[in-house]
Amino acid sequence: MSDYILVLDEGTTSTRAMLFASDGVLAASAQEELTQHYPQAGWVEHDAGEIWEKTLRCANEVIPKAGGAAMIAGIGITNQRETVVAWDKVTGEPLTRAIVWQDRRTEPFCAELRAAGHEAQVQAKTGLLLDPYFSGTKMRWMMDNVPEVRSAAEQGTLAFGTVESWLVFKLSGGASHITDASNASRTLLMGLTGEGFDAELCDLLGVPLPALPKVTDMSGDLACTDAALFGRDIPITGLAGDQQSATIGQACFAPGETKATYGTGAFVLTNQGSVVPNSKNRLLGTVLMQINGVRTYAIEGSVFVAGSLVQWLRDSLGVVGTASETEGLARSIPDSGGVTIVPALSGLGAPHWNAEARAVIAGLSFASGKAEIARAALEAMAHQTHDLAQAFAADGTTWQTLRIDGGMSANDWMAQDLANMLGVTVERPDFVETTALGTAMLAAVGAGIYPDLQRAAAAMRGDVSTFEPSMEDAVRQERLSRWRRAHQAV
Ligand code: ADP
Repeated sequence: MSDYILVLDEGTTSTRAMLFASDGVLAASAQEELTQHYPQAGWVEHDAGEIWEKTLRCANEVIPKAGGAAMIAGIGITNQRETVVAWDKVTGEPLTRAIVWQDRRTEPFCAELRAAGHEAQVQAKTGLLLDPYFSGTKMRWMMDNVPEVRSAAEQGTLAFGTVESWLVFKLSGGASHITDASNASRTLLMGLTGEGFDAELCDLLGVPLPALPKVTDMSGDLACTDAALFGRDIPITGLAGDQQSATIGQACFAPGETKATYGTGAFVLTNQGSVVPNSKNRLLGTVLMQINGVRTYAIEGSVFVAGSLVQWLRDSLGVVGTASETEGLARSIPDSGGVTIVPALSGLGAPHWNAEARAVIAGLSFASGKAEIARAALEAMAHQTHDLAQAFAADGTTWQTLRIDGGMSANDWMAQDLANMLGVTVERPDFVETTALGTAMLAAVGAGIYPDLQRAAAAMRGDVSTFEPSMEDAVRQERLSRWRRAHQAV
């Protein structure tokens, strides 16, 4: 019986192939690092050819561990969102380097669109803001600056897509040019309620509609691999952007259920059910799921700096030797001694969206040492999340519990501090690879192993640990007022 699911997890820094058994147990995995190209300050690029080659190699490494392609019921792909690949539909080759989500090069074009008064209309339609983060202006930049892209557009052979779209094209031997609705909803080119890409938005951004993929569901018979690749054709039955996938992996299926991923950055999503999000507090509205043509939405708060602050303390300042040392340091003192960090090292994301902001370490004295700095860095996670919680509440969504994951969530002190500062129960699954698990669930449903995601979650998710709030309100208020004061200096 073919009951394994192969998940291709396409991160920003690495590509992985993970083999899940139908009960959610991870049976095998393979991983390769991706080369990061930084041609100029603020620019970040990937080689789409490298992504494909490494993905294929990782897949070929784990498939034998399932007993061969015949044992794989379906493939799921989850990916770094917003990153744009341009390729030629005829040759199947990339036309230029992929522009990565972190890349800020299109800020002047975004500023022009904002100055012309387009943001309100774009936000109402797409749920997004005019920020270089999203895919659409990256596509426009390629049209304007890469002659090969423009000439392919003129000849009708240009294909644009996010990373999952590129990989489906390659896996299917060029037969399928599709994107799933969660990835499509990060482009600025699809309305939250529209079926496919929106001609008016394409016109506004200067992106040729015929170059865009077809928008599909996230679970089902979505495409099929070329039989020549793995010895038999394998159906591709699940597709999702990484944050939507983690939300599914955390089983946030009911409106109000919320997950927060603490990796390089922090991404908080709350399920909104069928209500089309319309944030008044600079949060994003996004498609959480599209299954059988029916959409579920989420509000999202994206914070650019989370674990990368700890990484900076380790690599640039040498305050810690490993990221996990921050936990012992934080526990070694009763408080941060008044030290407060506002981690705006690459500007501020939600709910501030201030690209020019820079970080602050406030309240230093001769008594401040490594422990105070490390503790202040971890405290900043709860402070940033608290700002998001307030913005979510102002938009009508109060969190009852917070389900956390991501590399940084392994830090028990931080998990407890989140519970304390937010005043809610924090839940952490024992298996923290929720991004891959969410796509494994989508692909398992798509392959017919489970009738729906609820049943897939019941079978595939493991146990969770919980952290209950235990902090006096006076302490919480003192922390928040320190945070607000430091924030004013940003
Ligand atoms: P991504 O998926 O964005 O690459 P991960 O989810 O792997 O990131 O998380 C890695 C980040 O988490 C790193 O920036 C690292 O500094 C931070 N991190 C990992 N473990 C801990 C820990 N125990 N305490 C604090 N930070 C941690």
